[in-house]
Parts: sequence; structure tokens; C-alpha cells
Amino acid sequence: MAVKDDKVEELARRRGFLWQAYEIYGGTAGFYDYGPLGARLKRQLEAEWRLFYSLEGFFEIESPTIAPVSVFKASGHLSCFSDLAVVCNKCDSFFRVDEELTAGGKCPECGGELVAAGELNLMFQTRIGVPKGRDGTRRGEGYLRPETAQGMFVNFQRLLRFNRSKLPFGVIQLGKAYRNEISPRQSLIRLREFTMAEVEVFVDPEAKNSHPNFDNVRDRRIWINPAEGEECETSVEDAVRNGTIANEYLGYHIAKVKEFLERIGIPSDRLRFRQHRKDEMAHYARDCWDAEFMSRRYGWMEIVGIADRGDYDLSAHAMHSKVDMGVPTQTRSKIIPHVIEPSYGLDRIIYALLESAFTEEQVGKETRKVLRFVPELAPVKAAVFPLLNRTELKQKAEEVFQSLKRELVYVDYDDSGSIGRRYRRQDEIGTPYCVTIDYQTLEDDTVTIRNRDTMAQQRVRIADLPAVILADIRKLHV
Ligand code: AMP
Repeated sequence: MAVKDDKVEELARRRGFLWQAYEIYGGTAGFYDYGPLGARLKRQLEAEWRLFYSLEGFFEIESPTIAPVSVFKASGHLSCFSDLAVVCNKCDSFFRVDEELTAGGKCPECGGELVAAGELNLMFQTRIGVPKGRDGTRRGEGYLRPETAQGMFVNFQRLLRFNRSKLPFGVIQLGKAYRNEISPRQSLIRLREFTMAEVEVFVDPEAKNSHPNFDNVRDRRIWINPAEGEECETSVEDAVRNGTIANEYLGYHIAKVKEFLERIGIPSDRLRFRQHRKDEMAHYARDCWDAEFMSRRYGWMEIVGIADRGDYDLSAHAMHSKVDMGVPTQTRSKIIPHVIEPSYGLDRIIYALLESAFTEEQVGKETRKVLRFVPELAPVKAAVFPLLNRTELKQKAEEVFQSLKRELVYVDYDDSGSIGRRYRRQDEIGTPYCVTIDYQTLEDDTVTIRNRDTMAQQRVRIADLPAVILADIRKLHV
């Protein structure tokens, strides 16, 4: 099994999706580059995510990635955002403590003994402005944000006013986050700089059990691994009613996370929702669920965290900044809203997408490698080929290519090698359609269009080509 998934990463590197950053200097652990196809895949994933939550009526903001220390003193990250580490007494390598790596254990690098190294804070520290005053005092202490969420919390009063002082409302933010992970080694799974896509829903604590659209999700089936009791399949409604999921808002957003992940092509039988045990909950969380993807290479891995952060953050910022975060209500005195937060790690999702999309099949003597992306996310939507390397076919193919590009933008043209090889090249990067121009095209303006997944070919008029392809791409959005 593991062999198969090495092939996923090999293909991703070779075909321009992603690779370790700073390769020419030996690579730096925890940093990755997205190449031309990877960046396109990621941008389209981000667009799908924006669309999905904009349809919920949420609005997007963009805040800085660097913040002064006061923000993280208030949020608790300065004192609590750390991992327990061990260090090898022979080669000095540091490791994050987990089931296999504990004090007294063996160093996986050199076999030396691991000794406790205490808690290490995961934030990257920096200086804002000139680091020293004339009297030599250090100043301008800042940190790179370890999550985008704080940008929404510190702006809460402005966002509330923007929403005409009414609850509930949702805010989204998509951008880089930084965590100085102690031992990043697993490609996109544990990075030091990664992209988060976060949703903060602000709600009156007394309304948490009546989500206005709960009816839309109540019957959805989810596979859960609760903190207490057996792993099982359940409806969202049952899990909320019997108290396994803390409230309707949390249940609703768990269902929406599942909907999004399936829509972008992650199979539901490789997804589960695992509830945090009491001792692993983040410092701000009251109830927390991870959407986990079953990776053939890495086992169950968290790709989205869905937390009920209660009033933790707003109360903490109110206390530290002395700014009132209360919301007036008609019948009660001011309340501090609670926050429900789905927090997506897009790089892990990209990995999950690559692994889910990758298939190999035997066609005659050849092994056909295919990335079966949903057409929305495919980095190239269609490729145009002249059947043979002849001027008249190439001219016509160039014409078709140019007109298709105007409609679909991401279109390739390829006239090198046999037609079979050209198909294989497009299969490997997940192009859903290949269009071939042959001698019949010159007579009647029709082309063949080949489907990546079925390999079936259909003859269509050039004029109908964009409509045929777009109709297929849009099927997902109904
Ligand atoms: P958390 O705030 O720790 O729940 O993280 C939210 C999401 O960010 C997780 O579900 C992951 O998908 C992603 N994530 C967290 N840490 C990393 C990391 N070091 N590298 C890549 N993705 C990460």
C-alpha cells in the first residue's frame, strides 16, 4: 500500500504539482512549493471554499499575518500553544512527543536515548519595526499568526456593526498561518507555513440549539468516533439530540464540512468525525471534532477541526484590551457571543485530494495512471491535439485551442508524440477532456472528445464543444 502512495508524491513532484521548498539548498523541512499545476489546483479549491461559505451568507475579511504580542497574550497562544518535546542525547534532534516518541525511547535518527525537553511554543517570533530603543530596550515583539481566527476576534465590534448589530453572523478568512512545528517530516501533513481557511460563526449562546437551517442537515449520515462510546454511523440529528455533539450549531457545521469535502471529491467512506478527548482539547475549546481522512500512507489524519470555542476568545480580548465585546439584546442584558469554528487546513486537503484522485489501471501492457479530480478542480480542463503532425491538422487544432481557451481558460495544446502518449500525459494530471482534430474535422467541423474516466469518445461539432464541456463541469453545482 505504502508503495502506491509514494507514487502519488512522485507524480506530484514530476508533473509540477508540489515539491519541498529550497531544494537547491538541500530543502527545508516543513516548507513546500506549489508548482504551476499545484498552485492552480489550490486556487480553485480556495474558490470552491469561498463560494460554499458565501452561499451560507458569510463574509470574508483579510487581516495581517503578523500581530503584536498583546494579541497572543490575550488569546492564550503565548502561554498554551506548545507541544511537548523530547531531544536525543546523542545527535541533538528534537521530536514532538507522541505514542512512539517518548522520554526513555530511542532516537529514530541515530538510536540514541530520548530525554524530556519540556514544552516548546510553536509560534514564530519576530520584531515589528526597529528592534532596540536608544536605551537598548527590546521592543516591537510580534508573532506570525498560528491561525487566522484572531483576526476575526479582534475585529469583532466592527464586524458586528457591519452586520447591523445582529447575531448570528459568520466571517471567513483564508490565508497563511505559521507554526514552528518541532519535527515536520510528512510532506504536506505537518508544515511550518500552511494555508488555513477558517469560519467563525458568532451566535447568541442561548440560540446554539436552534440553527435556522438545521432541517436541511438533520437526516444526513455521518461516521463518528466519539470521546465516549463506540465508533458508529449516525444521523446528525441523533448525535445532537443524545448530546454526543454539543449543540445544533456544531452539528450543522459538521454536516456542512462533510458536504464540502464530498463535493470536492473526497469519498465519504474515507471520512470520519473524531471527537477530541478531554485531555487533547485546545485551550479555547469546549467541544471539538476533527474531520479525518483515511490516508493509505499516513492512516487517519485531521484535515478540518470543528470547535465550539464558547466565549473564550471574545471574553479574553475584552479583558486584555478593555474594549467591550458585549452585544445588546432586547430582553436580556449584554451577552458575549459564542463562536463555532470550522477550521480547514487546505494543504492537507490537497494531499487528501491527490491521494483520493490517484488510480492506476492496466490497459493492455501499459499502466494507466490517472488523477480523477472533479472537473471543477482539474488544473487543465481540456487538451487539444492534432491527430497527426501535419500542417493542415495543426492549423485547425490551433484554431480550436484558441477558441476553447477563451471559454475555459485552462486549456493545453499538445502535438508531440503518439496520440496514446498524449492521452496518458493528460490522464496523469487529471485533465477531464481531450479533443482530437482529424481529417474528418476539416470536412465537417466535428472533433472527437474523449472522457478521462470512461475513455469513451464522442463526436461533437466544434461549435458545441464549450457547451458540452461546461455542462459537465457544472453538473457538480446542482
Ligand atoms: P488546528 O487549529 O490545530 O485544529 O488546525 C486546523 C487545521 O489546520 C487542521 O485540521 C489541519 O488541517 C491544519 N493544520 C494544522 N497544523 C498543520 C500543519 N503543521 N501543517 C499543515 N496543516 C496543518
